[in-house]
Amino acid sequence: MALAGCLLIGAAPAAVIEDIQSNPACPICGMDRQQYAHSRMLIDYKEGPVGTCSIHCTGADLAVNRHKRVREVFVADHAGRRLIPATSAVWVIGGDRSGVMTQRAKWAFEKKADAESFIRDHGGSLATYDAAMKATFEDMYSDIKMVRERSRRQRPEAARTPAGPDVDDRREHRECKYCGMDREKFGFSRMLIRYDDGTAVPTCSIHCTGIDLALNPHKGVSASLVGDYDTRALIDAEAAFWVLGGDRMGVMSIRGKWAFGDRKAAERFIKEHGGSIVAYDTIMKAAFEDMYEILR
Ligand SMILES: [Zn+2]
Ligand SMILES: [Zn+2]
Repeated sequence: MALAGCLLIGAAPAAVIEDIQSNPACPICGMDRQQYAHSRMLIDYKEGPVGTCSIHCTGADLAVNRHKRVREVFVADHAGRRLIPATSAVWVIGGDRSGVMTQRAKWAFEKKADAESFIRDHGGSLATYDAAMKATFEDMYSDIKMVRERSRRQRPEAARTPAGPDVDDRREHRECKYCGMDREKFGFSRMLIRYDDGTAVPTCSIHCTGIDLALNPHKGVSASLVGDYDTRALIDAEAAFWVLGGDRMGVMSIRGKWAFGDRKAAERFIKEHGGSIVAYDTIMKAAFEDMYEILR
């Protein structure tokens, strides 16, 4: 018996064995991984393994832990529940089975025949791990909003805090919570999110704000504020005129994402530097897509 145990450990990385016992809850959403054994994943960081419920939470964890060394990423075979390397799995995107933490489902199979038989019964299309991860980041913001909406319905009594700007958020919160960058220096791209539990999260940019939203999908957002690119005053990020692209290098990302309180100011910027005016949802979706490009 003991010998069999040793052989097992020799055959696969120790982290893969009984991963649910050692990582019972997804660190991103808190869900029970036993219940999501069919979609669970395990990131084998050099710094220690992290078990998640799904590719959605795996994407969020990889985005926040860019500094960590990833040795291998494992995913459950949807057919047999056994963990297999995510890169060699046959992925299925879409279909009529509702996804985990996502509207557009992403499943992994060890055998191509199992994936094809799933598609015959439920729809969806074959994909690689890379394509499934790309789709995960494309869907990330709308999935966060979906989870937030569901949580809000479970606690309708949650109070909204006033959305007014801080007196001087740069003095109060000098550094970005995620990358540590100086928010005074990046006053033209900084953001401040207020959650309805009373907490505030200061960041350098929409990139780092995206990470915070991905890590806190259940929290209600009571205010999303961003520094006006020209005046640096905090403005309502959801009502701002955002400029995507242009020749100015972005903050924490290559593609620029700048907010203007005034449409004319945004148009002036575009005349000089290029880019186009988009809404908050579009700029946030772009921030997640760019996160994936950096992770690759
Ligand atoms: Zn999760
Ligand atoms: Zn940052």
